[in-house]
Amino acid sequence: MPKASFSMTRSRKAYEDARAVFPGGVNSPVRSWRSVGLIESGPFFVLRGKGPYLIDLDGNRYVDFVGSWGPQILGHCPGPVVAAIKKQAARGASFGCPTDLETRLARKLQKVMPAMEMLRFVSSGSEATSHAIRVARGFTGREKILKFEGCYHGAHDAVLVKAGSGAATFGVPDSAGVPAAVAANTLTVPFNDLDAVRAALNANKQEVAALIVEPVVGNSGTLIPEPGFLEGLGLAAKAAGALLIFDEVMTGFRLAPGGAQEKYGIRPDLVTCGKILGGGLPCGAYGGRKEIMQQVAPLGPVYQAGTLSGNPLAMAAGLATLEILLKKENYKKLEETSAQIEALLWEGAEAAGKKPKLSINRVGSMFTVFFRTGPVRNFADASGSDTAAFGRFFQSLLRNGVYFPPSQYEAAFVNLAMGPKELKIVGKAARAAFAEV
Ligand SMILES: *Cc1c(COP(=O)(O)O)cnc(C)c1O
Repeated sequence: MPKASFSMTRSRKAYEDARAVFPGGVNSPVRSWRSVGLIESGPFFVLRGKGPYLIDLDGNRYVDFVGSWGPQILGHCPGPVVAAIKKQAARGASFGCPTDLETRLARKLQKVMPAMEMLRFVSSGSEATSHAIRVARGFTGREKILKFEGCYHGAHDAVLVKAGSGAATFGVPDSAGVPAAVAANTLTVPFNDLDAVRAALNANKQEVAALIVEPVVGNSGTLIPEPGFLEGLGLAAKAAGALLIFDEVMTGFRLAPGGAQEKYGIRPDLVTCGKILGGGLPCGAYGGRKEIMQQVAPLGPVYQAGTLSGNPLAMAAGLATLEILLKKENYKKLEETSAQIEALLWEGAEAAGKKPKLSINRVGSMFTVFFRTGPVRNFADASGSDTAAFGRFFQSLLRNGVYFPPSQYEAAFVNLAMGPKELKIVGKAARAAFAEV
């Protein structure tokens, strides 16, 4: 039952104010909650985070399944990360000169992702994919890239084609403002469809610089690679003389210390990271085979630069985060907590008689409840979901103290701060929500 005391008065006022300044009142579209039936009331505005919770301006507390869209895998404000940021802030927030923090974080990254023989730090996931694609083009001397329908690789021109969540949420397959000539160099095929990959490569012989993929998709909701799909991509890329780019901005450090490439035992040519890597501060990385990365300036002809790249605050936060996170037992705990949450969701659905209308895709601590019967293998399947039902589900969870991603096409994330107390809240909220949808 909704709590009588639930109110978002202050958030509504803050939203009104923000709408006068920012398009849609936000600085990234999905934050507006438009796709869950809340166009007028808008989102809550956050006062602070604490462990597994977010607290909004009205003092409501929510178990947080978004975690800043992935980075907060330890929960909010982990002591050592806060301390590391403070310590570095007192020394200086940015220098535009190298620090050894960068090398230390790079070494940590290479230890879990050996495919990153050489790498560059940047300030976001979008930057990482945009530069990885440029490097692939520079290295191969080819211009086309192949991506998968519903995979999101950031908000830049080359990859804003059939890009999942953000675009899907708002019903525009592509963005206005992307030149047709740029989009023409981006081929798209369905996820989990190797025949389509081979056909596209055959039809564009000697033209495809790289295949870029979210090895486990999070941006159409969670989509799971079928056995052999990722291996098949590697073989198809190799046969075509194209590079394989794993975009692990979401999956890196989440599915295993070394991300999906560790979990599925694949060694891509190039890798992109972000999100967890910066421990909540703006950070990304791209890297891969040495001979490829040696093409990057000042060693080679591919230009890439960034005023705040390798920012010391982000490096310090990333180091402190990975220091705590990268232990086997943490991934065991994430899996256990996530399996319990999945079971609670199914129980709630069953009690409400909604089970036959649902499908849950989960890999470790990322999952999606699709409001449709399964299986959900690709973007076309995901987009057949009942998004109105998802919207009601989201709103009911919210009133009962649980914050899910505000879109059917986003993955929910479990974090290490969630324990028995939070599971109880989730179980109760799930029962109420499935009964209401
Ligand atoms: C979030 C995300 C990006 C973009 O990262 P930003 O830091 O938002 O620019 C790219 N690829 C994937 C797979 C992502 O999930």
